[in-house]
Amino acid sequence: MNRVVSEKHRCPRCRGPVPNLKHIGEYPGAVSYVSDVESTDIEICSACGDDEGFRNYYGWPLMGTESWPLPKSFKFFQIKHTAPGRAKLIHAKKGD
Ligand SMILES: [Zn+2]
Repeated sequence: MNRVVSEKHRCPRCRGPVPNLKHIGEYPGAVSYVSDVESTDIEICSACGDDEGFRNYYGWPLMGTESWPLPKSFKFFQIKHTAPGRAKLIHAKKGD
């Protein structure tokens, strides 16, 4: 799938589509935790929203706007469903 993503639907944190590749521009993304620091709402994609959510919950480094856009090699914290009713937290590149 190769869809053109307009700038307004691009995540400033990872440059991916907002809210995600399947539903580009169909509904809002997440509000970045970094918004509190910058005092303005920054809309990011769902994958970044999840990554920041886990970082915030566990107290791991949040990655401020000075490191945006994140490098392609950046590893996201994400939930992986392993079996019906089972999931685990993984740390992988987007799309891995
Ligand atoms: Zn993103």
